Amino acid sequence: MAVAGAAAALATAKTAQADAPQTLAGGTVFTGDVQGGKPVVSHLNTEDLEPGKIHRLYFRGVERPSGPPCLVSVIVAKGAKPGKRITLTSGVHGDEMSSIRTVQAVMDGLEPAQMSGTVMAAVDIPGPAVESMQRRWPGWGRGAELVDLNREWPGNANGPSTAGRHAALVFEHLLRPNTDFAIDFHTGTTGLDAAAFNIGDRSNPDVKRMMDLFPVGMIWDDPVYPSVLHNALIDVGIPCFTPEIGAARSLNLPMIALFVEGTLNVLKHYGVVPGPLGRTGADVGVFIGDSAFPVLASTGGFVEMQVRLDDMVTAGQQVAVQRNAFGEVVANYASSVAGKVAGFRSDAMAEPGNVLMFILFNSPAAAAEIYPE
Ligand SMILES: [Zn+2]
Repeated sequence: MAVAGAAAALATAKTAQADAPQTLAGGTVFTGDVQGGKPVVSHLNTEDLEPGKIHRLYFRGVERPSGPPCLVSVIVAKGAKPGKRITLTSGVHGDEMSSIRTVQAVMDGLEPAQMSGTVMAAVDIPGPAVESMQRRWPGWGRGAELVDLNREWPGNANGPSTAGRHAALVFEHLLRPNTDFAIDFHTGTTGLDAAAFNIGDRSNPDVKRMMDLFPVGMIWDDPVYPSVLHNALIDVGIPCFTPEIGAARSLNLPMIALFVEGTLNVLKHYGVVPGPLGRTGADVGVFIGDSAFPVLASTGGFVEMQVRLDDMVTAGQQVAVQRNAFGEVVANYASSVAGKVAGFRSDAMAEPGNVLMFILFNSPAAAAEIYPE
């Protein structure tokens, strides 16, 4: 029997609001629990929060096998005056630490007394994945399984996937009711380093505008997969895109600073934060491509890159060499396109089929999307 996660959450809510109908515009539901001095909510409406202040709380997600729920750390900077509501999400992939630090740094710099509107941050959305610093959500329903939460949005509160239920709770009770515009921050995945770039669909005018406000060197003009968070938000009318901030598992402080500057530009553009814009994509000569050419390992062995991130390459240019355990060359890899190196494998050993490199370029017919976002 399936039990609706939202209904179960309501049944245990301990406030007078627990019996209120839960519509998208419903009031905040405090569960009555407090963790480390921070209140726990199962539904958030930022309109209920006191203006001119920073609020820190936990959102209650799906239950873990031992009972306690996954708690998502939420920071809300509620401006003194009303205005647009911008949501920043990070850690949807649990190994992407620079995404989390970027959001923290943006929130650190906000002064709610000077703001018109609200900035909400959902910092560590898949708690169990973040704790173990791994990309995927650890589930145990059919033995150990690892689920990519960024293939689950907008989730299903009654579905057979724990990660999908968590996604549905976060989507319907935290993100969707409180957001006019959103940015879902990511990095490369473990084993794959990435340059600084943004992924989004430039046919959406707000997505185009937001991405152009970042002083980073590349934009990949592509919506990518239907089940990623930024597309689930777009499907309900909330413009969103995905920054990629270097490698997984570590903090790239210079790159984080660029994305903080871009995010503050977005907040200024929509009138949430006062002040002049910082540098934008135009100031750094941003390269915009609509396709990513993947270089895939044809065999096993040790791979040595012969180009660097952000390098421009030509069609036919050799980009990597692979050797066996004897040091003998077993493969040479070349780019089939002229473009810019946006990411490459940072783990030196590769198996056949691994993505060794992807090169951002412009194609008359958009190429397959193999970048593992
Ligand atoms: Zn990611």
